[in-house]
Amino acid sequence: MDSALFSGVMNCLICSKCNRKYDLFESVWMCICGGFLDIQLRVSFDPETLKNKPFSLWRYREVLPLHPDAIPVSLGETLTPLLPIDISGQTVHFKQDQLFPTGSFKDRGSAVLITHLNYLKIPSVVEDSSGNAGASIAAYSAKAGIKCEIFVPDSASEAKLLQISRYNAIIRTVNGSRKTVAEAAFKIAEKTYFASHYYNPFFIHGIKTWAYEVCEQRRWSAPDTVILPIGNGSLFLGAFLGFQELKASGVISKIPKFIGVQAKCCAPIYKAIHPFCSVKLNDCQTIAEGIAVSDPPRIQQILSCISETGGDLITVSENCIKKTLQEKWSEGYYVEPATAATIAGVTLYVQQLTNDEQIISSFTGHGLKYSKPLPNSH
Ligand SMILES: *Cc1c(COP(=O)(O)O)cnc(C)c1O
Ligand SMILES: [Zn+2]
Repeated sequence: MDSALFSGVMNCLICSKCNRKYDLFESVWMCICGGFLDIQLRVSFDPETLKNKPFSLWRYREVLPLHPDAIPVSLGETLTPLLPIDISGQTVHFKQDQLFPTGSFKDRGSAVLITHLNYLKIPSVVEDSSGNAGASIAAYSAKAGIKCEIFVPDSASEAKLLQISRYNAIIRTVNGSRKTVAEAAFKIAEKTYFASHYYNPFFIHGIKTWAYEVCEQRRWSAPDTVILPIGNGSLFLGAFLGFQELKASGVISKIPKFIGVQAKCCAPIYKAIHPFCSVKLNDCQTIAEGIAVSDPPRIQQILSCISETGGDLITVSENCIKKTLQEKWSEGYYVEPATAATIAGVTLYVQQLTNDEQIISSFTGHGLKYSKPLPNSH
């Protein structure tokens, strides 16, 4: 295949901690030193190559770190609309990623990761998740015929657990925080393959298609500002990666400012930026379960993204999340709490703006994922 990825420059897996390199197609998910892996990838992207390609995630295949012989494991990953919504008098465009096959943006990552693992003939995978990543990995594993085991916190939504089990994945419920859940999955993963949405770089490279789509929908221009939720940061970092590649390819001239949104009661990034603040981290106390992560392993990369792009981190209270959720539902937008948190963050951001900015955000998860009454108090 005449792809930019295989143009003689060495593409490889590289350890984030000790810089050890592995072949891109070796079946490792962690460095022997315990560090997580990134992908060193030579990308040179030309929009001209997209002509006549179908409107799906796979139109960007040329920039994905997949073997030329890998056959896409696909459930129909269509391009998602960029919907303009008025937020406090300013138009903000929200990518409708809740429309993906399993109801969340995670399918961008799962489609690419499972395609890679299917090519490697990995027979079984394990993942830990608050629900959406688990459902997504489970769905694509089902499509590929890969055995799948998902570790979830006992606080996960019933609808998400049902969805995971309906894809025939094995569910392991763990009592405790997201960190406890992750540790339990990690142990099992020693014997299988950790198809992690935050550890595994193939997942994050799948997410970067978000940025390619946004830029293509804007006729290959970057917005001023991107506002995205941060749980483990796979969306945030994947989007950043996409913009970095597009800039390096000379397709866009600037990388947008990256603003993250977290729930007030679970805001490790905010805490890292403001070390003297007294916020307590409790990932069980937010209804925005998609971003309830008190200890994201890629925190350093998230912090560099924010500082390199002149970005920031906005926190939103539980009341504000609930109010925004009900308000959006009443306007016809059916989203889940983590997306309401994002919209609440966008609103706070817009309200302090003095100039017009072109802002892009995202609907990350479908409202059908949260089919239970809102809690009254916290
Ligand atoms: C996973 C998820 C997030 C957060 O994404 P990260 O990649 O963990 O930062 C936000 N919203 C929803 C609906 C999610 O499923
Ligand atoms: Zn290492």
